[in-house]
Amino acid sequence: MKRRNFLKKAAFGTAALAASTAVAVPSVLAKKKYNLKMVSTWPPKFPVFQIGLENFAKRVKIASEGQINIQTFAAGELVPAMQTFQAVSDGTVEVGSGASYYWAGKVRAAQWFAAVPFGLNAQGMNAWFYSGGGLKLWEEVYAPFNLIPRPIGNTGVQMGGWFNKKINTMADFKGLKMRIPGLGGKVFAKAGGTVTLSPGGEIFTNLERGVIDATEWVGPYHDHRLGLPKAAKYYYFPGWHEPGTVLEIMFNKKVYESMPKHLQMILDACAAQTNVWQLSEFEANNGEYLEKILAGGTKMYKFSNEIMATLRKLAKETLEEEAKKDLMSKKVNQAFKAFQKRIGAWGQFSEAAYHQLIAEKIKLKS
Ligand code: CA
Repeated sequence: MKRRNFLKKAAFGTAALAASTAVAVPSVLAKKKYNLKMVSTWPPKFPVFQIGLENFAKRVKIASEGQINIQTFAAGELVPAMQTFQAVSDGTVEVGSGASYYWAGKVRAAQWFAAVPFGLNAQGMNAWFYSGGGLKLWEEVYAPFNLIPRPIGNTGVQMGGWFNKKINTMADFKGLKMRIPGLGGKVFAKAGGTVTLSPGGEIFTNLERGVIDATEWVGPYHDHRLGLPKAAKYYYFPGWHEPGTVLEIMFNKKVYESMPKHLQMILDACAAQTNVWQLSEFEANNGEYLEKILAGGTKMYKFSNEIMATLRKLAKETLEEEAKKDLMSKKVNQAFKAFQKRIGAWGQFSEAAYHQLIAEKIKLKS
């Protein structure tokens, strides 16, 4: 025992000595630093989306004690919005952010990881990614492009869009030129509409100048920010085409894999935290902004049951057609369908039943 105590004291003495001479440790032992550039598809300082990325970068820097330093760039500041995927894939920059359906032209299967018409809501998408194998599948889809994806946000259920004429029947979609991305856009095309895809920063101008007849964007909070109530009269719901759109962050695979595990974990954890934060921002603000929009004279309408039933049928056909075009899309579509089926009925007895209960209470009050 005596000898052990002696050794203990000696060890403490050595530790104390090491601490007092810490300044003399050679600089080669300093931790390696990673200076990364992150580009995005969002306008500068854009609430939730771009601010979320800036917050992510700040958190990563703090959590890594300065080992990872991410410099953020908004759309067009370093590369154009729609070149984000390619820039990260090539290694021109190390990190990028957008929504995976923007890259459908390069990788069709990517669309399922952003939004599926009549598909999963935010809770469902998160359940698929974190607990249903969805993220593993997404990694598989992005691997040939030298990319590692992570969800970094979710809009929740979106609104159906802004129109300058009333949508009473399916015939009203015929010839309508609308900004509507992803698989939802393909359904809209099947319904006879003409699809355009423009990044957020160009939507208002295109609608105001009549380059497009209609647009969807996100929901009251973001739509108000884009000024859409000033460019269209009618606001339709629900966002059948985007029931819980996922925002993505993607890392250059070589860069990510070159990092020690603890730094990879910091990136993953901060992305998951930002995912929750973005959804929370929409949930916290949409109600208030909807009131502002309606106070400004906008008329809000629900798509008729008939229109919803027809679009749902067209969506089913569209998904099967898209899935047939390549093996990976087939695989992802099958996995998505299986997962939606797996959680299927539960929502009726939980979220749907609860929302109905709350809505009835509000109705009784007025
Ligand atoms: Ca949208």
